[in-house]
Amino acid sequence: MRKILFIFSCAVHLSYSQSMWQCKERFVDYLNFKGSLNNVVKFEDKQIDIYNSKGTREFSIYSGEIAMLADFFQNTTYKQQEQLLKLKGTKKYSKRQRDSLWIYIDDRRKITKTKKSLPFEGYRVAIDPGHFATDLEDAAIEQKYLYFAKDSLHPGDSIKIFESQLTFNTAELLKKMLEEQGVKVLLTRQQANFTSFDCTYNDWLLNHKSRVLDSLKNTDAMSAERYNKLMKDGDYRFFWDFFRDYDLSNRAKKVNQFIPHATVIIHYNVDEKNDPWKKTSDKDYTMAFIGGAFTRDNLERTETKLHFLRLLLTKQLNQSEKLASQTVYNFNKNLKVDIASPFDAEYLKDNCLLTGSKGVFARNLILCRIINSPLVYGEALYQDSYKECEALMKYDIEKYGIKTNERLLKTAVSYYQALILNLKGL
Ligand SMILES: [Zn+2]
Repeated sequence: MRKILFIFSCAVHLSYSQSMWQCKERFVDYLNFKGSLNNVVKFEDKQIDIYNSKGTREFSIYSGEIAMLADFFQNTTYKQQEQLLKLKGTKKYSKRQRDSLWIYIDDRRKITKTKKSLPFEGYRVAIDPGHFATDLEDAAIEQKYLYFAKDSLHPGDSIKIFESQLTFNTAELLKKMLEEQGVKVLLTRQQANFTSFDCTYNDWLLNHKSRVLDSLKNTDAMSAERYNKLMKDGDYRFFWDFFRDYDLSNRAKKVNQFIPHATVIIHYNVDEKNDPWKKTSDKDYTMAFIGGAFTRDNLERTETKLHFLRLLLTKQLNQSEKLASQTVYNFNKNLKVDIASPFDAEYLKDNCLLTGSKGVFARNLILCRIINSPLVYGEALYQDSYKECEALMKYDIEKYGIKTNERLLKTAVSYYQALILNLKGL
């Protein structure tokens, strides 16, 4: 009997220490941006302590609670998580208290085994096609377009590319490919020129701006000072002061309500040194982002703290790295674009943490932080590359009844192949 008990306690201890070790590894590899969390998140022998800005310990996670809390942060609402943070504090939960938390958890990601006609039936993938501008008026506000003469010998608007059109086309193709395998797909936008509010930016300003700002002011979510400033903002200023982040948060909200098994965020990049993008660049690189790279001030807001705890305790970042790494590998193989090193762009060096996978960087982007699923935020190629820009403007092939080109189709295939390889293991 004693022997059995001894083996049992060893096994329990082993699994606990492994979880602590996994959290610490995630903290070091993805989350602690250049050591800035060293004084606010501390790993002790059998517990993780979170401190506030005054140096007081305000939340503790004990080794026996890790698995339970990981499930909790992945499967509950913001309100329930906020409550737990307050009620639990630094207390160690007994087994009975831990068990009582299970009533909140409804694992809606679980795939039930039934006789399926298609291999990926029951799986859900969310796709966010980046941006919304598809005409010069919107593009002047959003700043996500290329419009210039190809060279001095060919004056005129020979290069005209809207990133929103590229991302939406890719998303539509990827959606069809996944649906053929039985995957249920959510697109965060319904048309190339739509925001995530199912209308154009202009229509949103006309029909929703005052109502949304009024309700934020009336519920004290916005100060009167900020309200007055935003009401007076022109369309361009209002986009950068408010709408950009508001639209991104809405995309994340839509994705989270869908409870996806994986999320793909589609973007196309430019050479940052080619600013203001009035000519082609000789550079072309591929890369992808995942969540992480938190700074000390991120932990001062409750909402961001809850995102941090989910990313620390669950395997989502490890799964995102796997998915992103496979995607970058496919971009490189299918599109023949070199994988970016951290020295190829300033933001990779200054704002990101390197992961162990080539071309995959941890970055604290709104979507990478809020979306509650493994994800890849892909930047397949540079639109302003002299090799890419003309190929991106052609719509000379048709697939699933969608007019597209070789570059966008190969990008969609790259995401698709990475998802099919990883979806069942997530
Ligand atoms: Zn973009």
